[in-house]
Amino acid sequence: MKISVIGCGYLGAVHAASMAELGHDVIGIDVDPARIESLQQGIAPFHEPGFDALLQKNAPRLTFTTDMSAAGGATVHFVAVGTPQSADGSADMTYVNSAIEGLTPYLSEGDLVVGKSTVPVGTAERLSAKVTPTRALLMWNPEFLREGFAVEDTLSPDRLVYGVQEGKDGDTATAILDEVYAGILAKDTPRLVMNFATAELVKVAANSFLATKISFINAMAEIADVTGANVTQLADAIGYDTRIGRRFLNAGIGFGGGCLPKDIRGFVARAEELGVGEALSFLKDVDDINLRRRSRVVDVLAEELGDLSGKTIAVWGISFKPDSDDIRDSPALDIAESLARAGATVVSADPEGWKPAQDRIERAGLSASLTTTTDHRAAVTGADALVVATEWKVFQDEDPTTIGALMPGKLVVDGRNCLDSSSWKDAGFRYRGMGRA
Ligand code: NAD
Repeated sequence: MKISVIGCGYLGAVHAASMAELGHDVIGIDVDPARIESLQQGIAPFHEPGFDALLQKNAPRLTFTTDMSAAGGATVHFVAVGTPQSADGSADMTYVNSAIEGLTPYLSEGDLVVGKSTVPVGTAERLSAKVTPTRALLMWNPEFLREGFAVEDTLSPDRLVYGVQEGKDGDTATAILDEVYAGILAKDTPRLVMNFATAELVKVAANSFLATKISFINAMAEIADVTGANVTQLADAIGYDTRIGRRFLNAGIGFGGGCLPKDIRGFVARAEELGVGEALSFLKDVDDINLRRRSRVVDVLAEELGDLSGKTIAVWGISFKPDSDDIRDSPALDIAESLARAGATVVSADPEGWKPAQDRIERAGLSASLTTTTDHRAAVTGADALVVATEWKVFQDEDPTTIGALMPGKLVVDGRNCLDSSSWKDAGFRYRGMGRA
């Protein structure tokens, strides 16, 4: 089948290559010429394990362009553009609206437009008024991929969710999307068909639940810190209860990235618009707890070192999670910036995130006090303290004795509770975890 994918970011570019892997002819369209140039050359414009190989393997069935008219020959059009946070917390729909506007002149009768972006409930219903006059069909098919596992999650998702317009058109749209995803459905992947509103809500509900779980354990970390309890042991103990489960119960500096923070804020804003803001007021606490984690690290350092001005601090981690170069709303980068603003000299190390961070640090006017490197050992050389802010495996596997020999200050703040605390203590470090000593 001929497929277009509009928006070639973390979601769209991986989706385009994955659709080619399923055997389709795919045209990826984006307004960013540099991104398109890179993709067209088979070079991933961001770090995502396995994505370069997928791009290169499927090059014969993959084309990228900035020209929307190229969507004209395709039958199925995935919309995967960004929905960032607006100043008031709601989702900014500018890109989705303009993508649909740009696409409609090229739609033909019987085409299927499939929304993948995360959108406020009610969006698909609103957009169907724009799409249906072309006699094309609209569906909403939210995406649940995790950065760092994007290829695997796209090709082998836990489930597929189809949001359809009720009635005959819904059945036709379902049949077309089933054909697109035949290779995935053949693996017995659960596929749930529901109305537009439910499909839109599934996505934000899933992210809200995950965010709540993380903030719950971080709230327990706050209590653990003042009582001498150990939040990791607490999480292990409650996690054995299968009703609770151990995943997403790792206390630390909280969640970030291009999805969870903006999705819970957008959900709250939409609920308020709908007059049911009270139903989601707890998500504001979830957000507050999460943001407090970032200042907690700065507070711990100040407790240990006193005035941070003039201190040299190494931060391991820049991207919001390991195996990604995504720095959107990254707790690690936020913490590094706060330390630099407090007068410290900060060296942040990250295997991938160092590159996109350059621009943001420069725009923040912090280049003089916050530098980045890929070399985490160079970062600690001469440092008074080390903060572990992103749990890359290379950091977790590091030998504390080797690191101790490079640092005059023997203080490690484990922002992800990902180090073996006893080996760091044995190497002479003062160890401060998040909700555990
Ligand atoms: P992104 O910022 O990486 O990519 C968005 C892309 O859309 C950019 O390349 C941008 O240039 C392009 N774009 C903007 N306007 C356009 C237009 N009119 N025509 C063509 N291209 C246009 O964002 P992302 O992380 O890929 O997220 C995209 C959507 O998917 C968001 O709604 C997000 O919430 C959702 N989502 C993301 C993830 C994830 O892990 N990144 C997971 C699930 C869902």
